[in-house]
Amino acid sequence: MSNTVYDVIVVGAGIEGSSCAYQLAKRGQRTLLLEQYPLPHTLGSSHGATRITRKAYPEDYYTEMMMEGYKLWKEIEKESGVKIFHNCGTLYLGHIPSLDCVEAGLKKHGSPHRVLSNSAVRSEYPIFSVPDDYTGIFDHDGGILMADKAVNTVQSLFKQNGGTLLDAQKVVEIIPGTTATVRTDKGASFSASNIILALGPFTNKLTSKLGCTLPMRVEKISVFYWKEKVPGMHSMESNFPCFIDRTATAGISVYGLPAYEYPGYVKVCLHKGPIVDPEERDLDKSTWVRERMMKYIKERQPWLHPEPSKELTCLYTVSRDGDVILDKLPTYDNIIVAAGFSGHGFKLGPIVGKLVSDMVITNKTPEIFKHFSIDRFAGSSEDFQSKL
Ligand SMILES: Cc1cc2nc3c(=O)[nH]c(=O)nc-3n(C[C@H](O)[C@H](O)[C@H](O)COP(=O)(O)OP(=O)(O)OC[C@H]3O[C@@H](n4cnc5c(N)ncnc54)[C@H](O)[C@@H]3O)c2cc1C
Repeated sequence: MSNTVYDVIVVGAGIEGSSCAYQLAKRGQRTLLLEQYPLPHTLGSSHGATRITRKAYPEDYYTEMMMEGYKLWKEIEKESGVKIFHNCGTLYLGHIPSLDCVEAGLKKHGSPHRVLSNSAVRSEYPIFSVPDDYTGIFDHDGGILMADKAVNTVQSLFKQNGGTLLDAQKVVEIIPGTTATVRTDKGASFSASNIILALGPFTNKLTSKLGCTLPMRVEKISVFYWKEKVPGMHSMESNFPCFIDRTATAGISVYGLPAYEYPGYVKVCLHKGPIVDPEERDLDKSTWVRERMMKYIKERQPWLHPEPSKELTCLYTVSRDGDVILDKLPTYDNIIVAAGFSGHGFKLGPIVGKLVSDMVITNKTPEIFKHFSIDRFAGSSEDFQSKL
């Protein structure tokens, strides 16, 4: 293959890279999207049928991003004619003071929500067995995003807008410069004025070759499906919402979605997993996540069978403070990294794509990226956190 020159090369075709590429192509940038595996694949973070979406967040800046994010998801549905969002609401559960910041964010942005006292949670959602000091917030705009469908749709829109998508092309080298060049494992070279690295769990494998190892770790997440004791009880038709239980088990969150993906089975997962190398994730054979989840289901979800019926795997990329990383690489002004999306980045895809494309086109860093800069880690050695 000859060395073609683009305006932008996006490396990594998960939801973040695909969304960046789509926004750039739509705005007239000659854009190449490269993916290491044949598409679709299940080896990163964006695969699977469903994800939770919501505006409810403890950090106001994510609520702010999702206010526009919702409009962009709607635009994607409109442009493609594909239904991606199902509005069943998202219920946030947690100890009494811990949800105050979530409520404050929704209030500030005028997003419809309801605060539920402990007795209201118990009477409206008797399906959950909650402790005495628990409260809830119902985010009316929450719901399900059809994840695989969404990734595929965004990639199709990218191509319809003139973008070039090449899969089975692993980028093995980046040669920085005003015009940077990427080389792939197939011996191809491509050049562009700007490079975006949206590599999910594989980020440090490439950025470290550019002298930048980011403070992130990769966790293997077990995606469990639990069989309903009473068929239909956890369906959207029965008003079962998406939910996040903030301090479900020993301070670690648990989240779940209505039985939709596999009728009769409810997806409920622990927001944590063993640290792995993304290339060798299945070598990990630890059982603590399954054991902890079985205990949680028994105690808090009495209408589900306490043994998971199905188990899939997905990867989190978690930065040291749990926030995402959206920034230029320290020594390369035209190489942007979008990483660290942990267990909540899917819904952010379109707004991340929009803001990163703004950054490329205007050469100005969006104001909100101050929360996501690389230099925030300088001198800090706090423990890893995983925000949700
Ligand atoms: C179990 C689970 C549940 C989740 N639930 C939710 C939820 O309910 N709501 C929500 O909003 N988010 C959720 N998330 C988080 C969300 O799915 C991720 O944050 C998001 O998918 C991250 O996307 P990404 O594009 O950064 O990474 P990825 O999807 O991993 O994409 C990165 C891509 O880059 C490619 N790549 C890497 N290196 C190279 C290279 N050298 N050359 C070419 N290509 C390369 C990879 O193959 C991969 O396809 C969940 C995640 C998991 C694992």
